[in-house]
Amino acid sequence: MPEGDVVYRTARRLGLALDGRILTRSDFRVPRHATADLTGRAVLETVSRGKHLLTRVDGGLTVHTHLRMEGSWQISPAGRRPPPGDVVRLLLANAEWQAAGVRLGMVDLLPTGHEERVVGHLGPDLLGTDWDPEEAVRRLAADPGVTIGEALLDQRNLAGIGAIYRAEILFLTGIWPWRPVGAIEDLEKVVGVAQRLLHANRERPSRVTTGDARPGRDLWVYGRAGRPCLRCGGRVSRGEMGTRQQERLIVWCRRCQPE
Ligand SMILES: [Zn+2]
Repeated sequence: MPEGDVVYRTARRLGLALDGRILTRSDFRVPRHATADLTGRAVLETVSRGKHLLTRVDGGLTVHTHLRMEGSWQISPAGRRPPPGDVVRLLLANAEWQAAGVRLGMVDLLPTGHEERVVGHLGPDLLGTDWDPEEAVRRLAADPGVTIGEALLDQRNLAGIGAIYRAEILFLTGIWPWRPVGAIEDLEKVVGVAQRLLHANRERPSRVTTGDARPGRDLWVYGRAGRPCLRCGGRVSRGEMGTRQQERLIVWCRRCQPE
């Protein structure tokens, strides 16, 4: 499941393959932009904003993509056969590399000057150079009746957290996922843990929140429902919360995160 760390790394990989090179092929396989053609333009850079990717090209255009639940960018040497079937939503290639956007949840093309229209609603980016913890706390606290579990996934509060980090952050701060934001004294700590976790994992191929990269010990609670809590030995619980269809799963320890 792509969360902020994966999107950050994806931007870096796209940058290594595309930045400063002239596009020799651009193939938008989405109806809205089926006739768009960026051939002959240089790619300037790809940046991540929360879970959004912005690929800026010469001439003031930005390709806006989002991985959603199962999307990825697959990069391979130019001329290699792209992934088969209808899974590719966008293909960008230069003389050396091709980047295939597979199962992307969103593909859009817009003037670079209009980027704020698509990412302006986002809260502070946990992996952004402009990360602003005070602003993240302010936004989280603005709606005190919302559960912390839902507030952490709301990208308008802070950008980059998905269901996995939500579970890990709440475990590490000992907070019951359904506690209202207004009843949490130390939101600064929650925000600080969130940023430290994403930052520590931004260059790693697999996520580790425990400090122990061994399989089955790398995450505190996510993926461990029904198994013993790594800290207290109690059984890890699972449930659902919120209305987001694909990020409803919440996993927590009843002892370490008491109601
Ligand atoms: Zn526990």
